[in-house]
Amino acid sequence: MAYHKKEYYDQDVTEGMMDAYKKIIELTGEDVGREGLVKTPERAAKAMQYNTQGYTLDAVHILNSARFREDVSEMVIVKDIELYSMCEHHLHPFYGKAHIAYIPNGYITGLSKLARVVDVYARR
Ligand SMILES: [Zn+2]
Repeated sequence: MAYHKKEYYDQDVTEGMMDAYKKIIELTGEDVGREGLVKTPERAAKAMQYNTQGYTLDAVHILNSARFREDVSEMVIVKDIELYSMCEHHLHPFYGKAHIAYIPNGYITGLSKLARVVDVYARR
């Protein structure tokens, strides 16, 4: 599955998250000024935005970008689509596999688009 790493980050969101991550790191007893941690709040802020970028992506638009006329009525199944996500209760990362099945209604969609849609919902 091709991931397009998010390259642009909202500056206000990044700074707000950096402040929060600095606080979290301090509350663990660590020194945010320590060499290995100096850039951690910024990295964590960007990682969080990347991991939640599904909120800014439109699954319907992705599906419609690769819709092909096809007169098949048999079920299409795509198995073992890798997904990476975060538990909303603890913000712990997890990964797994998704399977999608659908019955075409005059159209089929590109397989890679289904994987992207899984990614859109996993990154929320
Ligand atoms: Zn959890």
